[in-house]
Amino acid sequence: MKQSDIGIIGLAVMGENLVLNMAGRGFTVSVYNRTTEKVTRFLEGRAEGKTITGAYSLEELVGQLKRPRMVMMMVKAGAAVDQLIEVLIPLLDKGDILIDGGNSHYPDTMLRTAYVESQGLLYVGTGVSGGEEGALKGPSMMPGGSPAAWPHIRPIFQAICAKVEDGSPCCDWMGKNGTGHFVKMIHNGIEYGDMQIICESYQLMRDLLRMTADEMHDKFREWNDSELNSYLIEITRDILAFKDGDGAPLLDKILDTAGQKGTGKWTVISALDEGAPLTLIGEAVFSRSLSAMKDERVAASKAYISSRPHFSGNKATFADDIRKALYAAKLISYAQGFELMRRAAKSNGWSLNYGRIALIWRGGCIIRSVFLGKIKEAFDRNPALSNLLLDPYFKRTLEELVPAWRRVVSAAVTHGIPVPALSSALSYFDGYTSEFLPANLLQAQRDYFGAHTFERTDAPRGQFFHVNWTGEG
Ligand code: NAP
Repeated sequence: MKQSDIGIIGLAVMGENLVLNMAGRGFTVSVYNRTTEKVTRFLEGRAEGKTITGAYSLEELVGQLKRPRMVMMMVKAGAAVDQLIEVLIPLLDKGDILIDGGNSHYPDTMLRTAYVESQGLLYVGTGVSGGEEGALKGPSMMPGGSPAAWPHIRPIFQAICAKVEDGSPCCDWMGKNGTGHFVKMIHNGIEYGDMQIICESYQLMRDLLRMTADEMHDKFREWNDSELNSYLIEITRDILAFKDGDGAPLLDKILDTAGQKGTGKWTVISALDEGAPLTLIGEAVFSRSLSAMKDERVAASKAYISSRPHFSGNKATFADDIRKALYAAKLISYAQGFELMRRAAKSNGWSLNYGRIALIWRGGCIIRSVFLGKIKEAFDRNPALSNLLLDPYFKRTLEELVPAWRRVVSAAVTHGIPVPALSSALSYFDGYTSEFLPANLLQAQRDYFGAHTFERTDAPRGQFFHVNWTGEG
């Protein structure tokens, strides 16, 4: 029997679609699913007539593969991955490759890589972004783990992934152990941020400018032809145009409570661990939590009778200011996200290629946008760039956008429209570009109550002082 190029475990939506993508690119694929009826259903349905072979046990799956054997798990993240690793290790030989394509948390992938390598096998944790459509038509893929695995998985991964206009694949090797899942986590955090600033812009247009869904649809259509061109702006445009059965916008009937699966939270926890000021994504995660407190919000909205004044400025000009504020905040969000990656790379001994990361996010994934090309260019100009805000393009662009951004945040605050992400990004910008912050007072307070010491502006850095603030012995 002809041996398959790769084996996939897990025939839920992501696994099935990745298998069909691989088969569509000429690879032979063996498939297994814990509930084996799904194997039969798949073979008799979507997989019929394709280069896909079914297996009804893990032993059978492994026996169908070319060497070195590549087994990719597309199963629920968490315990299922550990259980499968334990069962698969005795079935595989030295040099075989285990791949986890689920949304695993990167510290787990770091531990699993070390464990699987200790057993003589190779391990890859790969981010797969783009949802079910991406998996089928070409996702953005972020593999990392045992470097010796890359030459083997590369031909398949770079064939099935999305491509940007010049044909460059949206998949590249991220680095050792947990890098693939770490970069995917940052991608998801950035997705949270992008979605939040779009939502705040929508609320400003809806509640402050009193624009209709159709008017907002037109705005997002215009914006998608600008530097904001991206998948998320595009789907927002289409969502605003979508009508329910009665002809009214469906969006107006959707309950305003957002869910989350946890990757945004992981990103923010990682930022806290690394001491990276990831303010915009942090606000995006908290905004979802606040939105989920629907009943309390309804009660509080009745307790505090709203006296929001009407907007009396020029609506068209202000709508354009919102576009500029959105773009400015987006620049900050990515600057913060890349800053977190830089810090985590240092802490974990990773060598991340930031330009390459920007490139692989340019297609296939939820945050795909023209703007990522600008980030790629910034890191091409200076691969050691410490913060995107110091790149000449970002500096020039922000200088142009900041006045409108300030007008938008001021108006939102004056009129009682919550803009946590747009405003925290502006405060980050103001803080990052301030020579002096009030941390001198903070250090004095810490020294006053806890003798934590401070450095002096008139003494060399690294010399620490303590004073007796009260004069008491
Ligand atoms: P899922 O709902 O996360 O997982 C279902 C699959 O996992 C089924 O094949 C199930 O087998 C299998 N499974 C669960 N526990 C298992 C165990 N203990 N041992 C063996 N198999 C087990 O599926 P999904 O939505 O296709 O996602 C797959 C992975 O990709 C997940 O890690 C997910 O987070 C990630 N991901 C999903 C998306 C998305 O848009 N859905 C996007 C990117 C990444 P049974 O049929 O036997 O229950």
